[in-house]
Amino acid sequence: MPIIQPPDDAAIERAAALLRDGRLVAFPTETVYGLGADATNGEAVAAIYAAKGRPSFNPLIIHVADMAALDDLVAWNDDARLLATSFWPGALTLVLPRRPAATISLLASAGLDTLAVRMPSHPVAQKLLRAAGVTVAAPSANASGKLSPTTPAHVAESLGDKVDMILAGGKCAIGVESTVVNMATGAPVILRPGGVTREQIEKILGRKLDVFDAAAGEKDAPAAPGMLASHYAPHLPLRLNADSVADDEAFLAFGPDIFVKGGAARLNLSPQGDLYEAAANLFAMLRELDKPAYAGIAVAPIPDTGLGLAINDRLHRAAAVR
Ligand code: AMP
Ligand code: MG
Repeated sequence: MPIIQPPDDAAIERAAALLRDGRLVAFPTETVYGLGADATNGEAVAAIYAAKGRPSFNPLIIHVADMAALDDLVAWNDDARLLATSFWPGALTLVLPRRPAATISLLASAGLDTLAVRMPSHPVAQKLLRAAGVTVAAPSANASGKLSPTTPAHVAESLGDKVDMILAGGKCAIGVESTVVNMATGAPVILRPGGVTREQIEKILGRKLDVFDAAAGEKDAPAAPGMLASHYAPHLPLRLNADSVADDEAFLAFGPDIFVKGGAARLNLSPQGDLYEAAANLFAMLRELDKPAYAGIAVAPIPDTGLGLAINDRLHRAAAVR
């Protein structure tokens, strides 16, 4: 059976059975493709870390099809409920206190007393989660530290036969990961900018939010779990906020091309300067330009508002010295 399967009802049933059986299934979400396993099965969760080559301190997001599935797992508070009802299903992950009785594998949350939870909106993800009937732990379906996958082919390239099935669901509409907000302690803090913007969240909560500073965390001992400075990394060096392009560099443009000269190859995240279009294209275009033929990738400046915050976060990590 080919590993990439169109998401018809039969394939979704097979994928659900694989998950219940402790196997790994890659599935589409509106953010990026996820690598799913039964979150209550420690061995299945361990297989995720093994397939990704992921450091074990980096906790996974727990995915559910409806809010009721979370009642036994996490302790809600008013702000968290407000955000969940406003943005779910969607690209927002909430970090909440883990209930003592939660049966989620401790490995999935890297031994923390919190859980990161999300309800994805992609119809294939929704169907799979309902059919599986188990809570699904899922990081992005790529080798740890590398570019996130936004098509089924990206998953196959990155993980190959380490995954038991890849459910196809087209190109991810948002294209960057979910926004992670810590709602477990005191004032909410954005741990990772993502598909729901800071401005959208601030509007609902009626107050300004802090954004966790990844650069302050650094390398082996991240101040927030999973916040490694170097992540989402292509093989080539990245040069950000480029205002010129060398002849041997590839160029990733944004908005109307103002300096048209130079560059051995060029792609434009969004010629119209639309940050939604740019986010959806980001990982696929970085992959396409990440070829040994070029000396590096020069990236045009991206505004730091709306989805630009998430795009710039990924670009800075991709550019971080490793
Ligand atoms: P990924 O699944 O690859 O999209 O990454 C999930 C991210 O969610 C991790 O990198 C962490 O930063 C964050 N995360 C998951 N669980 C927790 C948690 N319990 N506390 C804080 N951050 C978390
Ligand atoms: Mg990831």
